[in-house]
Amino acid sequence: MSRSDAYRLLACPLCHTVHATPHMVAFGFMVTEHWSDTYSVQSLFESRQGLRQCTACHDFYLQSEAPYIGHLTSAQASRLVAVPPDYIPAFLRRAGSDDVTTANTNSDSAHAGQFWIRWLKKWWVGKPFYLLPTDNPPGENKDPSKKYPRMMTASHGDLAGILENQEKYSVNLIQAARILNWIYLNDAYRDTAKSMVEKGQEPHSAFKPTETQIDNMRTLLALLEFADGGYRATAIAELYRELGQFDRAIQILEKITEPDYKSEAILEAARQGVRAPTLIPYAHQHKK
Ligand SMILES: [Zn+2]
Repeated sequence: MSRSDAYRLLACPLCHTVHATPHMVAFGFMVTEHWSDTYSVQSLFESRQGLRQCTACHDFYLQSEAPYIGHLTSAQASRLVAVPPDYIPAFLRRAGSDDVTTANTNSDSAHAGQFWIRWLKKWWVGKPFYLLPTDNPPGENKDPSKKYPRMMTASHGDLAGILENQEKYSVNLIQAARILNWIYLNDAYRDTAKSMVEKGQEPHSAFKPTETQIDNMRTLLALLEFADGGYRATAIAELYRELGQFDRAIQILEKITEPDYKSEAILEAARQGVRAPTLIPYAHQHKK
C-alpha cells in the first residue's frame, strides 16, 4: 500500500520557483499493467522518469536536480498548495480484477500463441497513462490564494522539443526524456496489439518499430552503457531484444546474479524470439 505523507517543497533549478510535490512513503507494488519497456498503468511508481516542467519559466528539469526547500504538513498543504492534498489514485477507487492466469513457462508449445493472447487479455485493462486524469489539471496551479504551485510533469508533446535542444540539458535529463520517448513510441504497438488480442490474434508480429523508434532506442542504449543504477542491465537487454538482437539480450540477462520477475520475463521472450514489448507478471498478480 502506498500513502502520501504531506508535501515536499522543491525549487526549480532554473528560476528557483518553489513547487510542492506529494511525499510518498511506504511504496507498494499495486499496478494493473507493468511492461518490459517500463511502461505502467495506474501506478504510483509512474513518475514520468522524474522529468518536470516549471510552472513559471516553463522549462524542464529533473526532480532529482531540484533543491529541497522544506516540508509541509497536510494541514499546511491544504492552505498553501494549489491542489488539495486528497489525492486518491484511480486504482484504489475501483474494484480489482481477480481472475488471473499464471505464466506458462513451456515456451515450445503449440499453445504459446494462445497463452499470450489469454495472458494479454487478462491484464490489458488500462489506457495509456497520458490519457488518464493527471494530478495537475490545466489551470490548477493558477489559484492566486495558494502560495505553492503543484509540481508539474512533462508531457509527451514536450519530448521532441527537449531532444532537439539536448545541449541545453543534463545527460540524466536527456536519458529520462529518451526513456519516456521509448515508452511513448511503443504505445502505437500497444494499441494495435490490444485490438488484435481482442480478436483472438497473437500480436507480436505487429511490432514493427519505425526509424524514429530504432534511432531513439539505439541512442538510449548508448546513454545507458555509461549510466549507473541497478535497472541498467535489464533496460539494456530489453532494448537489444526490441531491436531484434536476441543473443545480446540473452547474454546480458543470463549474467544477472539476482534475476527478478522483469528480467526473467524479458529473458523468456528473448529466448522465444519475441521482439515486441511484453507484460511483466509480478508475484502479486499470480493467482495462488
Ligand atoms: Zn523555472
